Amino acid sequence: MTQTPEAATAAQTTEELLQQVRPLVHLDSLENLLNQARANSLWPLTFGLACCAIEMMAVGASRFDLDRIGAGVFRPSARQADVMILAGTISRKMGPVIKTLWDQMPAPKWAIAMGGCTIDGGPFKYPGQYAIIEGADKIIPVDVYVPGCPPRPEALFAGILKLAEKIKAGRKGPEIAA
Ligand code: SF4
Repeated sequence: MTQTPEAATAAQTTEELLQQVRPLVHLDSLENLLNQARANSLWPLTFGLACCAIEMMAVGASRFDLDRIGAGVFRPSARQADVMILAGTISRKMGPVIKTLWDQMPAPKWAIAMGGCTIDGGPFKYPGQYAIIEGADKIIPVDVYVPGCPPRPEALFAGILKLAEKIKAGRKGPEIAA
């Protein structure tokens, strides 16, 4: 289909306008803009599994203040959360519950494995044990691992920053918080 002279003129005008504003306005893809918004408004699900959850609670309190990075809005419903922080030992009984909560969270969603227990079973992993699941990644995909027993609040904070950085960059696959 051939372009009418009016349409050609309009396209040329638009292109000229874009050329003029390009040095002033950074025109990015919609996905990149959405990723910036997502990374700066991470809403964790309110739930804990064991002792690591105490450190997670400390991160939300005034000393560390997760609101500084937009991640202090812990939601009581999985349907309103986009980050699951797995904080503590995962008993076999809790496995299906965690999977249900994960499935209820709307996409896009992310998971942080906090502490040795959620990474690979931690101190409760030994031959023949039958009580715990040896790693959160046996149930759901993990985006960031935060090592320690327990990790200090600063370490979880670093993990959340790592997740934000990963989302902004559009990276896939698991990463470790330094
Ligand atoms: S990693 Fe350590 S502090 Fe965290 S839940 Fe396991 S035993 Fe408790």
